[in-house]
Amino acid sequence: MSLLVSTTSDPGRFRSFGPHHIDELGARYGLSADNVRAIRTISRVLPFRVNEYVLSHLIDWDRIPDDPIFRLVFPQRGMLAAADERLLGDLLGAGDRTGLRVEVARIRAGLNPHPSGQQQHNVPHLDGHELPGMQHKYRETVLYFPQQGQTCHAYCTYCFRWAQFVGDADLRFAAPGPEQLVTYLHRHPAVTDVLVTGGDPMIMSTERLRSHVEPLLRVDTVRTVRFGTKAVAYWPYRFVSDSDADDLLRLFAQVVAAGRNVAVMAHFSHPRELATEIATRAIARIRSTGAVVYCQAPLIRYVNDDPHAWSDMWRAELALGAVPYYMFVERDTGPRDYFQVPLTRAADIFRTAYQDLPGLARTVRGPVMSATPGKVLVDGVERTPHGEFFQLRLIQARDRRLVGRPFRARWSADAAWLSDLQIDPAAPADILAAVSPSAARPGAAVTA
Ligand code: SF4
Repeated sequence: MSLLVSTTSDPGRFRSFGPHHIDELGARYGLSADNVRAIRTISRVLPFRVNEYVLSHLIDWDRIPDDPIFRLVFPQRGMLAAADERLLGDLLGAGDRTGLRVEVARIRAGLNPHPSGQQQHNVPHLDGHELPGMQHKYRETVLYFPQQGQTCHAYCTYCFRWAQFVGDADLRFAAPGPEQLVTYLHRHPAVTDVLVTGGDPMIMSTERLRSHVEPLLRVDTVRTVRFGTKAVAYWPYRFVSDSDADDLLRLFAQVVAAGRNVAVMAHFSHPRELATEIATRAIARIRSTGAVVYCQAPLIRYVNDDPHAWSDMWRAELALGAVPYYMFVERDTGPRDYFQVPLTRAADIFRTAYQDLPGLARTVRGPVMSATPGKVLVDGVERTPHGEFFQLRLIQARDRRLVGRPFRARWSADAAWLSDLQIDPAAPADILAAVSPSAARPGAAVTA
């Protein structure tokens, strides 16, 4: 398959803006003093990064602070507890660096930096040693976090991997190289998929990415290489006009030519991210290599808690030849209290958007909680003479015997996560043991 030729003019070099540029951005876009204060305070705890493309092409500055893309990348008042925000503001005002360090660490520790027991339950072992920068939760798939891919072209305010970006080595997944992964894969032939993720692996140069990917092709049992990325949304030039964009596409084509699938797991939060000419071209170029683009995002208050946003997004994805794949529920980490959408509303938004789709876009699944026992789908709300219930189903699980079997939980107006739910005690015992909030342990990690 030939690559599409890039004709888009070079937008210049990638330039990002972080906590050191808050005053510059405030002046450039006329942000209120309160906005600037909130951004400065909250970015002490949670990561903040934006780039010129997001600023110039995605944010509608006539609509701030309510613009969904502004909400997607700029920290906002309310993301931390009010008392913590006040305290941090006071410490910043007093220039108390030691106090700030202590309080920032305390607040981060209270934000559940590694949800769903990732650091305890999903770490693979080789010859009795833990493997850094890898996660193995489901039998077929290993997640691989290359050390050099642990940033993104911009940071999402709701990021569930925020702990990767705050400069604390204890909170970080990072693999120095693929050697141990390759050994592990040889010993675990049931693993068919490797998800190269981060951060965003597309932040790496193609040469670097190639050094992580090519060794995987030596493992016959690996059939699909997935790349988790938001680069099409945040920096589509990565696939079009960056100096090594053509080389990146050649790498995808090389993996395909080796008889493997390339799945670009693209994160789109809002239809506006798909509406630019450069994003459209990026998807066309990726697809020209034989790679398949699967689209996924969490449902986030203030950003996309609107069925029209989702149906427009899924239609746009389908029109571009991409596959709508998942609507996730915001995970129980970071500023989750601020961004969460109750499950009953999430199910409603999903159903309303889904009803609006042509059949080919109904590949999408959701809302889905990626929880400790597995991926729990909220299939809808059931009204019975005995009360209302959420219909639930595990569509992926550590224990494969649980997959595909329905169960239910008492309906609740406020529940926003699995742990908030009262599971129907009539559920099968194995499901009950796995998904009940009281379930002490998720069971063993997968074994070969
Ligand atoms: S792109 Fe993904 S990893 Fe990066 S900040 Fe957004 S949610 Fe987090």
